[in-house]
Amino acid sequence: MKDPILKLRSATRRAKSDVANKLISMFLHELSRRVSQNWPIKVDGEEYEKLVRERFDNRCPYCTCDLTDIESVIEHLDGMNRYRAGLHVPGNVLVACRRCNGEKRRDDSLKILSLAESGWESFLSHDGTRCAASCRTCRYWRSIWEDDTERTVRLGENLQRIRSFRRAFSQFEQALPSLMETQPALLTKLYSDCQAFAEMEIKTLLERFDAISEAKT
Ligand SMILES: [Zn+2]
Ligand SMILES: [Zn+2]
Repeated sequence: MKDPILKLRSATRRAKSDVANKLISMFLHELSRRVSQNWPIKVDGEEYEKLVRERFDNRCPYCTCDLTDIESVIEHLDGMNRYRAGLHVPGNVLVACRRCNGEKRRDDSLKILSLAESGWESFLSHDGTRCAASCRTCRYWRSIWEDDTERTVRLGENLQRIRSFRRAFSQFEQALPSLMETQPALLTKLYSDCQAFAEMEIKTLLERFDAISEAKT
């Protein structure tokens, strides 16, 4: 059990990280608008969602479950965080099942990926042959396709289908390499600057509070 002081410290650390992550998400949304403003299709329009659903037969692009009767969510192939630097633009946005969206977060939040270059490719690479026995993503895919051969085939098919989906958005494919080269480093800096700023502001305000309290006594 953690003692209360340690608990409080880790809660403060989490809050600071939440603020920094929020700032990164705000920046990535603004950047998305700027990057895609002249593209022929808008990501938030009905047309785009219809196109995505048709392209994947109204199934989850990861586990291929039917999305007709279950809750679906907007999913970013490259997650919108400081490691994956994903954008809210056509080609990166899909409709997926809530379960896969949650399970994929584990790969998305890793600084360094060992199975593939991107978070979504990594998520679909847990075929049960390359991870430790305790890997939760491997276990997730095993729960969906029990048979080893079928699982490998299905994961590979879904990888290919998503790759070819992305290739259909030429503006996105053109913009991606330079974004991937520059953004993660910028976002890492934004993240640590934001945390340093929060820390300094809180410290300054606390010192001011102490000074006022002392003056009163
Ligand atoms: Zn799914
Ligand atoms: Zn795994």
